[in-house]
Amino acid sequence: MVVHESIESTVGWDADPVVAATARRPSLDTEVTADVCVIGLGGSGLAAVGEALRRGLSVVGIDAGRVAAGAAGRNGGFLLGGPAIAVHQAGAGWGIESALALYRETLAEIRALSDLLGPDVIRQVGSIRLAGLPGEPETTAEAADREVESTDCDEQFRVLTHHGIAVERYDGELGRGLYLPDDAAMNPARRALALADLYGGHARLFENTPMTSVESGSVVTTGGRVNAGAIVIAVDGRLDLVLPELAGRVRTTRLQMLATAPVRPGRLPCPVYGRWGYDYAQQDPSGRIFIGGGRDRFAADEWTTDTDPTPDVQDWIETIAARFAGQPITVTHRWAASVGYTADARPLVTEVRPGVVACGGYNGTGNLVGPIAARAALSLALDGTAPPEYFAT
Ligand SMILES: Cc1cc2nc3c(=O)[nH]c(=O)nc-3n(C[C@H](O)[C@H](O)[C@H](O)COP(=O)(O)OP(=O)(O)OC[C@H]3O[C@@H](n4cnc5c(N)ncnc54)[C@H](O)[C@@H]3O)c2cc1C
Repeated sequence: MVVHESIESTVGWDADPVVAATARRPSLDTEVTADVCVIGLGGSGLAAVGEALRRGLSVVGIDAGRVAAGAAGRNGGFLLGGPAIAVHQAGAGWGIESALALYRETLAEIRALSDLLGPDVIRQVGSIRLAGLPGEPETTAEAADREVESTDCDEQFRVLTHHGIAVERYDGELGRGLYLPDDAAMNPARRALALADLYGGHARLFENTPMTSVESGSVVTTGGRVNAGAIVIAVDGRLDLVLPELAGRVRTTRLQMLATAPVRPGRLPCPVYGRWGYDYAQQDPSGRIFIGGGRDRFAADEWTTDTDPTPDVQDWIETIAARFAGQPITVTHRWAASVGYTADARPLVTEVRPGVVACGGYNGTGNLVGPIAARAALSLALDGTAPPEYFAT
């Protein structure tokens, strides 16, 4: 049992020199007017900002904190193709065609992000899905679960191959599973800040500007107001607090992570997730491991809007971190953030007032689906275009 005297929350990604050196943006303290207002400047909201600019529209974007103050700057940094529900399990509920359509959109999103931000930000290294965790099973229950997961990997391999999505068998130092060559990795804070830099010269972006109320055509903030014909609310975790009418459709849960001091570089050649995807880790070029998981083991506690790391989940992550690292580890940072879940794993893109569209509920995998949803939200707000059927309206 690992003992924590107290858990100070610091985000491992923020130690990156580029992130640490980023200047803050001003807050909004007046009334402004634009064609489009985007609330929430995570990866999703910034995609909506970019799309509005591409259409030649004027844009104001606001965030209650800094750019990527929420999960968008605090997540695992995995860029995995596909919806939250695995395509080979999507037949029940979603339908395979709908799941495949979203899968192809997410792969296109990786390519677009890579073209836009380059290899410093988007590392096109693929991903590994392991059956189980790295190393030998430690209990008979773990061994049995690994057998079942191994069969599931076989089924995923069969279905992806059948539909022309690149997948290979993985059998190596970490264990056995699948290698998905089209996936990628990033420092999520770097992605969001790079997008904000790219768009900030054209859109007016404000930090520390919480929205306090929204109606058709206007957003009231703590210090000002934005008048806009089209409004996109791109908030994943805590969306049910921002728009209480969505409680029941989207539910907030907490996900936790930690970062370690460098271990042998190259131990994790790409993002690696195991135990049915509940546990996940990536290693940066300096050897630091960024690892999260364990939500399923403490699920009741994690249905919360609180974002403090907790001893139980952190102990679990610390234990598995040594297995992912293949050696003892030293923890340097611990943190948590909120994400939104939906009952059938379909994200929401839903009009909440005429011209005001909210998106969120990415079920723990919003790095690629979030931008796709936010662009669909913008199209709905501007043109009335119905979102694709892989989104719930
Ligand atoms: C620990 C962890 C690990 C994860 N790992 C992965 C992963 O590896 N891959 C993956 O794809 N997904 C992962 N996710 C999920 C992913 O991070 C999220 O789905 C995604 O970042 C959501 O981005 P977003 O821009 O939609 O919303 P958010 O990140 O929730 O951003 C919303 C923004 O809105 C702002 N905001 C909130 N309320 C207001 C208000 N009233 N006024 C103004 N602004 C407001 C917030 O400050 C925030 O910056 C993980 C999440 C967590 C927490």
